[in-house]
Amino acid sequence: MSLPLHIILIDRAPAALESLNAVAQQLGFNVDWSFAGSEAELQELLHDERLDAALAAYPPARLDAQQLIDTVRAAQPGLPFIWLADALTEEVVDLCLDNAATDYILRGQPARLAPALARTLRCPARPLSGGHHNGRCASETEPDQMPNAMPALDDQRCRFMSILSHEFRTPLSVIMTSAELLNRYADRLPPARKQIYFDAIRHQVHNLNDILDDISIFMRAEMGRLEFKPESTDLDALCQAMVTKMQAEVGASHTIDFQTEGSFAELWLDPALLEHALRNLLANAIKYSPQGGPVHVWLRRDGQEIVLDVTDHGLGIPEADLPHLFKPYFRGSNAQKIGGTGLGLRIVRAAAELHGGMVVVNSQEGSGTTFSLRLPQRLAITADQR
Ligand code: ADP
Repeated sequence: MSLPLHIILIDRAPAALESLNAVAQQLGFNVDWSFAGSEAELQELLHDERLDAALAAYPPARLDAQQLIDTVRAAQPGLPFIWLADALTEEVVDLCLDNAATDYILRGQPARLAPALARTLRCPARPLSGGHHNGRCASETEPDQMPNAMPALDDQRCRFMSILSHEFRTPLSVIMTSAELLNRYADRLPPARKQIYFDAIRHQVHNLNDILDDISIFMRAEMGRLEFKPESTDLDALCQAMVTKMQAEVGASHTIDFQTEGSFAELWLDPALLEHALRNLLANAIKYSPQGGPVHVWLRRDGQEIVLDVTDHGLGIPEADLPHLFKPYFRGSNAQKIGGTGLGLRIVRAAAELHGGMVVVNSQEGSGTTFSLRLPQRLAITADQR
């Protein structure tokens, strides 16, 4: 008999447990269910490190759906979260899209529990508790059980792989939900609603692309194979274009302003590398300002250097984290509930160093952060390079 999955059902009454268990068994899942009907029970059960997934029908009294997701995420950030809904209402869809609930099941179609569990557990956001779940796929056999076992990955990389699967699962579940809705309700949805789902898909595809770009650049940098391909570049225009693009992506929650002093039209730079660096700095400034607020980009000269400052008024960085910021996979102690791979700053530093420059950080926890990309002035283009 395989070890059971541990799933918590959050509902007003435990009545659904019996039928869910029957369906799970029928579908070949061995589930050890627990039930939370009140906030206190939920808090208590969320201490259980063995939990594999949360299945939520109704939030306990005094919590709304959003607060319920926040409570689960606060206790176990990587725990797969599945909605058990009476109907696929707009509220359920919005909760899935906004919070990237891992999946949903309709009460009237409990058989959907199978694909939901399989998809949810195939790429766990953290190690699974049991080790031999029915829903687990063959490629996830423990490394030391493989015939030609690869050397064990160190802790840091394991954590990274787990973060990465979570970072992928979030956009994928949004894409999946939006596509399914468009497929099922295309004839009934008003055009504005359809547009929201198309935009959600497009936005998440960009997210996935950005993550893949980061991984590719990071790996090339780590292997010393990141190429430096300088060309005559208008840094002013490059920054302006990136600011405009990020502002369009982020919408009204943050405003990004761009200020420039002097002329930066003809510099001998690698535009692709600098775009990646600036995109990462801007994405961080936005992501780590969860309450919104302004982000300032300032392109200037300081003595013999060209300086690009990106300033936010967000969470800031705890002092103890500062020495570790540029280490691969490092994630700040106050950033655990915010998505990220821990690769971005490593890429920013690699881009700066290939230009003969460096990155400087100035931050105060609770007040905000400035990252400064400092590039040598000698990058100004010479006559023979024209
Ligand atoms: P990621 O953002 O994917 O975690 P990064 O390498 O870009 O990876 O950043 C590493 C860590 O540095 C982040 O996890 C976060 O703790 C911290 N950090 C980076 N930029 C900022 C910022 N603008 N404000 C606060 N913390 C930041």
